[in-house]
Amino acid sequence: MLKNIRNIPRYLIGSGALASVPSLLDARRAAARPGGAVFIIDAYFRDSARLSALGIQPDDPVRFVETEHEPTTDGVDALLADLRAQGHDAPCAIVGMGGGTTLDTAKAIANLFTNPGKSEQYQGWDLVQAAGIYKIGIPTISGTGAESSRTCVLTNYRTGLKLGMNSDFTLYDQLVLDPDLTGTVERNQYFYTGMDTYIHCIESLSGRYRSPVADALSHQALALCRQVFLEGDMMALENRQRLMTASYLGGCAIASSFVGVIHPMSAGLSVVAGTHHCVGNCITMLVMDEFYPEAVAEFRRMAEVQGVTIPAGVGARASDEDLQRMATAASLHEKPLSNALGDGWRTLLTPERMQSLFRRM
Ligand code: NAD
Ligand code: ZN
Repeated sequence: MLKNIRNIPRYLIGSGALASVPSLLDARRAAARPGGAVFIIDAYFRDSARLSALGIQPDDPVRFVETEHEPTTDGVDALLADLRAQGHDAPCAIVGMGGGTTLDTAKAIANLFTNPGKSEQYQGWDLVQAAGIYKIGIPTISGTGAESSRTCVLTNYRTGLKLGMNSDFTLYDQLVLDPDLTGTVERNQYFYTGMDTYIHCIESLSGRYRSPVADALSHQALALCRQVFLEGDMMALENRQRLMTASYLGGCAIASSFVGVIHPMSAGLSVVAGTHHCVGNCITMLVMDEFYPEAVAEFRRMAEVQGVTIPAGVGARASDEDLQRMATAASLHEKPLSNALGDGWRTLLTPERMQSLFRRM
């Protein structure tokens, strides 16, 4: 069945774009909603001079997001309850500024202000009923595509489900893409998160379910990744702008494409060992020679050119029981696995084969 795709309506991109946030908000402050703007910001920026560019007003609530753990349904529900308890029932805008963790938290909050109940009710596809609060996304690290995708990934520890609110309402209304912001990211982290774009695109271009626009976006995003990671310093300003562009394109492509073997395996690591999404993908990538031989060779070259190390030993340290749980968790991702390996994927990627791959990580 054909999907009716929606992408981000508006974005500003370029060095210095952050300075336009106050004027974007002025228009919202003057409009019908009486409440202030809610700022959801990566805790890294708690004492940063960057915040002065945002035009934060005295009555605007500012909440800092710790990124040690990826967003959870409970965490998002608690944040919303806290904002409501402080009298913020009808904000005129939500501003999310940070990496995927923060951008996803802000997206979830914006949906929950206008849709009753708890976040877990909306984990799935097209369950959000009403448009959320107008929201502005400001990525400060590039690669997940969370800025331009139609989901916000939340872990629900009660159900064991790591699943987003996949909805057109989850898309940001406005992006501010300012490559000045990504200059302070730690180098390894910059690589791991950047590689999420590369890996999404490799997986979707190798899959069975395809869309002509997603293919075109993925090809362009890959070309940009190759420039960033194979030529010169990945963190030079022009490469930061390229990676920001690649991440944006990759996020748009996710709306009409599927991942493959790497993301499910990475999710297995995440659920059992708590490994974060992007580093988990990189760890997985190193044992994917049988599935994506050329991409794995290129990935290794990129890491070498940039002098980046990928952590080793998470699988080797795991007990047999944990390896089994990892394989079980990975097997839940049927759609991407059949996208990569066909309907008979279970006979190709048996639990034993999965466990032996996890053991090598
Ligand atoms: P993150 O948001 O956890 O940030 C990684 C680290 O970088 C954090 O320590 C953060 O404080 C730091 N950081 C961010 N910007 C910085 C800056 N400018 N200077 C210095 N430090 C900075 O990581 P991420 O890799 O961007 O996001 C991972 C999350 O994204 C996961 O929760 C994953 O599930 C989610 N995700 C979402 C989508 C989607 O489509 N919504 C897609 C892929 C992944
Ligand atoms: Zn990803």
